[in-house]
Amino acid sequence: MKIFCVGRNYADHAKELGNAVPEEPVIFMKPKSALLQPNTPFYYPQFSNELHYEAEVVLRISKNGKYVEEPAAANYYDAFTIGIDFTARDIQAELKKKGLPWEKAKAWDNSAIVGKWMMFTPDLRKQPIVFSLQKNKETVQSGNTADMIFSFDRIVSHISQYFSINIGDLIYTGTPAGVGECVTDDVLEGYYGSEKVFALEVK
Ligand code: MG
Repeated sequence: MKIFCVGRNYADHAKELGNAVPEEPVIFMKPKSALLQPNTPFYYPQFSNELHYEAEVVLRISKNGKYVEEPAAANYYDAFTIGIDFTARDIQAELKKKGLPWEKAKAWDNSAIVGKWMMFTPDLRKQPIVFSLQKNKETVQSGNTADMIFSFDRIVSHISQYFSINIGDLIYTGTPAGVGECVTDDVLEGYYGSEKVFALEVK
């Protein structure tokens, strides 16, 4: 199982971190060990002093493929949820400054959170996904996939030009503006519309 992530897929978030809006999807990966398993506590990573949440729509790949054309890409994912791409922002800033890879900031154990999975229906595929993140009961991020720079289909097609995609692979499709810090004892809750799909306490 592989975890793909898209960076800078919402213009307002690219702007808040001082990044240019990309001309093609920015892709990075997390290993399987990054996925927080169900009923497992989430601990603040000891190597960071600036842990950021990034709420994102996550897709689940349902068909093996390579060189998938964009018009066929919707056949390759069947479910979605809301998740968090946790980021050690202080580590990332250091690595970015030196032009080094991001893994230490992004790919550590349990840095990938997923909520309850929901199946796409033909209707759901046509509608934008509205999602949000609450921190200690206050909304800190609100997203709408209509604002994505690159669509789900474009992302799946693009990834598959470089990597085979396999059943069970996950794709974090990028975060909207409003990323921010969280600390021990914060409670993060992810919403699809008004439906809560995960609750996570930072320990
Ligand atoms: Mg992200």
